[in-house]
Amino acid sequence: MKIYLNDAFVSKENAKVSVFDHGFLYGDGIFEGIRLYDGCVFKLEEHLERFEYSAKAIMLELPWTRKQISDVVCETCRQNGLRDGYIRLIATRGVGSLGLSPRNCEKPQLICIADKIQLYPQEYYEKGLKIITVPTRRINPSALPPMVKSLNYLNNILAKIEALHVGYMEAIMMNDQGYVAECTGDNIFIIQKGTLYTPLTSSGALKGITRSAALEVAGDLGMPVVETNLTRYDVWCADECFLTGTAAELIPVIEVDGRSIGTGKPGAFTLRFLEQFHKKVSREGTMI
Ligand code: PMP
Repeated sequence: MKIYLNDAFVSKENAKVSVFDHGFLYGDGIFEGIRLYDGCVFKLEEHLERFEYSAKAIMLELPWTRKQISDVVCETCRQNGLRDGYIRLIATRGVGSLGLSPRNCEKPQLICIADKIQLYPQEYYEKGLKIITVPTRRINPSALPPMVKSLNYLNNILAKIEALHVGYMEAIMMNDQGYVAECTGDNIFIIQKGTLYTPLTSSGALKGITRSAALEVAGDLGMPVVETNLTRYDVWCADECFLTGTAAELIPVIEVDGRSIGTGKPGAFTLRFLEQFHKKVSREGTMI
């Protein structure tokens, strides 16, 4: 495996980062998870734009143009002979000294990894996932805007641990007002009486690229969409539910907090979303 690090491609064994990198010391950095489908990068421009916005929000000045970063992403896939896979693009504040101040960091570091990924076993895409809500809340937007895809995932990890601890693979995180925000690494959607609902990004959800793709699919299917505050009650009583994320793709949910969603099987609309989503990823993308 070849990894892009410090302006060069190195082997996995040699892909080493300094312990003084503030990405390691403080989680001071940003990332993107991107999918490669059949030799084409899905929504590359959207990912690069979000990457730039994340950098801007944390005042990390990227010394690379969008074209340069785009070339790095595509070249990493080529170097690894990948046609399908998952790309992890990371920019850290770079090597500095002990102490929080980013002013001690010489220059940002760009890293790109391309590999295979299967977040959930295939059977869950067919049968659906059972999930629960957990006590750990999504971080308050005034503390860290949820739109920033930062290297700080500790509260999501705590939520994931809470779910795994009681035998579930994914968890719903609420925001500090008690509304549903998102899952630990995925956005959440419900369908109720033919309308698609999803939490507002201002309620603590990441502005997911797959979320946007699902909203586009809703447009293609002529389905009304409402972005609004959702309660756990709304999710429990939904006709259908599914999650979206670059790694997870689009996965049906059949149970939340012990309550069956709809019939307890992936719903008819969700199956249409899945079908349209797969058509979309195979049609669209930037050739590497
Ligand atoms: N929410 C969180 C917290 C995430 O980390 C992710 C990405 N894994 C998502 C939602 C989904 O975003 P995207 O569709 O852009 O991958």
